[in-house]
Amino acid sequence: MTADSPNSKVPTANSSHDTIVALSSAAGESARHIVRLSGMRTAELLKTVAPTLAVLSSAATRVSVNFAGLSVKAWVYTFKAPNSYTAEDTAEMHIPGNDLLARLLIDHLIANGARQAEPGEFTARAYLNGRIDLTAAEGVQMTIAAQHAAELRAARQLMAGELAHRLTPLIGVIADALALLEAGIDFSEEDISFIDPADLRLRIDGVKRQLTALVDGAPRFEQLSRHPRFVLVGRPNAGKSTLLNALAGLERAIVSPVAGTTRDALSAVVLLDGGLVEVIDVAGFEADDDNASSPREVAAQMQARARRASEEADFVIHLIDATHPAPAMPLAREADLSVINKIDLHPAAPASRGIGISAQAGTNLHLLRSAMSDLAFARGTAAVARLALNARHRQAIATAVSALDAANADGPIEVIAFELRHALDALGDVLGQISPDDVLGRIFSSFCIGK
Ligand code: GDP
Repeated sequence: MTADSPNSKVPTANSSHDTIVALSSAAGESARHIVRLSGMRTAELLKTVAPTLAVLSSAATRVSVNFAGLSVKAWVYTFKAPNSYTAEDTAEMHIPGNDLLARLLIDHLIANGARQAEPGEFTARAYLNGRIDLTAAEGVQMTIAAQHAAELRAARQLMAGELAHRLTPLIGVIADALALLEAGIDFSEEDISFIDPADLRLRIDGVKRQLTALVDGAPRFEQLSRHPRFVLVGRPNAGKSTLLNALAGLERAIVSPVAGTTRDALSAVVLLDGGLVEVIDVAGFEADDDNASSPREVAAQMQARARRASEEADFVIHLIDATHPAPAMPLAREADLSVINKIDLHPAAPASRGIGISAQAGTNLHLLRSAMSDLAFARGTAAVARLALNARHRQAIATAVSALDAANADGPIEVIAFELRHALDALGDVLGQISPDDVLGRIFSSFCIGK
């Protein structure tokens, strides 16, 4: 596949008069290559290589394809508009998998009037011709880029129009409310209103609730590409490195009785019942005595690191030393699990404070492992059913929610109408119904050529 180019031209409706061509299989070794043509001149261009192909028939034909003085046997698939991926006349030539052969065929078609497709231009045409909405187009790109099963599943959901399916009814509710409000504005002289404030508030609140529910807890698309991440936080010597080693089942970290011996973040991939997780021990929360830092600096540094690590983690485990019932560490974020370590030394540690374990002796590690598995994968399983949203979706939905917040049903109707329009625009943007070119550019320029 050709590398993405961030500066590539944004396909627009104006450029769709051209008939475009590209290699749509991956370049390199493969059994066959697919050269794809789309546009009004598809049939005419096909004839220059396979004169016997008289019509675009939505069928596959085995023919000799002739170009550059060569003749190769190929399966040619033709699709008549609008029954194709792009909704235009389209042909795919499946030729033997040789890069040079593909290049010569594409050059021949370009010499005869086709244009080399821009990255993502086939999908852009599908979108511009109303074949798919913008989230489905993103789904295509994400499917191509997916590296993990979870990513692939989420991408397929987008491709299938799942987000459009959820947003469309909400867009409908706002659009209806707006229409009624605007009718009221037209008749404001006569003091006629077509929707009463209580009804309006009910509708706005309903949409807001559903949008919030859609975003809340929806997995971030960007996070599907890695294992759920736990970070261990706790005072030096609480036993974080020992626990990491015990969970990983091997000598990953160097465990030392001197406070603050471990310096860098250590991580291990740990297999739990539900699947693999990554566990990180952000060590070095406290510098050793040789370090010139003042205790205050140390504390600040410690908190900054803890904060950063826990912000980036999916789950935080707070490890408390049973033998040092020091006040709980100030955490940047509430711990998802509290664990009391060294119960072998202090068996009377109150269980109410968390799961009591001995990282060293291995006591109760099974309890901790299953609590971690529940956290990462009970949510994870539900997350599969939920729709993963990318940053663009989240941002647009957040804009819509704040516009709906501002649309206070008791306010002047012009203001409410303005905010509702704003919310509609934001949601329309998600589906590409009203899409500024920069949004299109961002999405389609990350495609490969041929898609
Ligand atoms: P960290 O600074 O939080 O990473 O703590 P370490 O893992 O380096 O542990 C500090 C000290 O506590 C080491 O001497 C460990 O051997 C000891 N330790 C860790 N877990 C346990 C435990 O469950 N029981 C006992 N008795 N000692 C432990």
